[in-house]
Amino acid sequence: MILVLKPDASEHLKNELINDIEEMGLGVHVSVGEGTTIIGLIGDTSKINSYSFSSYEIVSNVLRVTEPFKRANRMFEPDDTIVDVCGRKIGQGYFVVIAGPCSVESEEQIVEIAKQVKKAGATFLRGGAYKPRTSPYSFQGLGLEGLNYLKIAKQETGLPIVSEIMSTDVLDRFMEDVDIIQVGARNMQNFVLLRELGRTRKPILLKRGLSATIEEWLMSAEYILSEGNDNVILCERGIRTFETFTRNTLDLSAVLAVKKLSHLPIIVDPSHGTGKAWMVGSMAKAALTLGADGVIIEVHNNPKYALSDGEQSITPDKYAQILPVLKKYAELENKQLEV
Ligand code: PEP
Ligand code: MN
Repeated sequence: MILVLKPDASEHLKNELINDIEEMGLGVHVSVGEGTTIIGLIGDTSKINSYSFSSYEIVSNVLRVTEPFKRANRMFEPDDTIVDVCGRKIGQGYFVVIAGPCSVESEEQIVEIAKQVKKAGATFLRGGAYKPRTSPYSFQGLGLEGLNYLKIAKQETGLPIVSEIMSTDVLDRFMEDVDIIQVGARNMQNFVLLRELGRTRKPILLKRGLSATIEEWLMSAEYILSEGNDNVILCERGIRTFETFTRNTLDLSAVLAVKKLSHLPIIVDPSHGTGKAWMVGSMAKAALTLGADGVIIEVHNNPKYALSDGEQSITPDKYAQILPVLKKYAELENKQLEV
């Protein structure tokens, strides 16, 4: 349930109302926009009669929120959320480009790629130190050593770091060395991990699960938000369908759905979304024109020999060709490319 307050509602009466709601055992989410304040009620409101609130002098409207996600709901927060990471903005009129290899393979590899994507234009450097591989015999990532190399790449280029966490054991190191913590598709419903990340204030990149509905995905975001961390960025990375030509089916309509349902920023991963390097540029362009707030692209200096996801990784040269195109499209869409 949300209560829309009259523009002239005094602080005193607002506080009285909030106290009354809390005394009913409900949580409160206050959103102050231009001219209006919205109070979102969190908890079981099914037995509460909406008349009990419309009788308050300062309440202009009482609305029921039918979706199970509350804090992630656009009704609770009508304005787009902008997540600020090291002074770089994600959301609303900004467009970010996160680029880098699937896995960090060595210091030389990550520093070299970081320099190349920085030169072409990038907002963040990505690189997996912990890799969720289908086979236990495949390369699992360099772990803490990988985080060290990412740190060196950041020192060399100034690019803030995006990297995936798989377990809370290493959260302290991620808090120190990583600027945006990625939750991968396979961990989207690892609720223990989500809650723990919710207790931090680190920006979290929450990828959509391989077979998660949009509602399930937003409920996962709700786990992080409900613990007090508002810095959530969603990432559409393709879902499982009957189609086998592409690795996944990139659900670009999710961008439109999420924009309608939620205030959270959403970026698109055309690399995992297609599994094919040659599709990445076009899908990135499409994501931008649909209103996505950014893209995350896998770039490798030697895709043939990449230790993971070589087939979907583009070369730095190809990346340097795509960037100016994205810049043009960003101008057309009135988006500021944050590179
Ligand atoms: C990745 O970003 O390399 C990755 C493993 O992504 P996803 O969780 O979307 O499969
Ligand atoms: Mn990958």
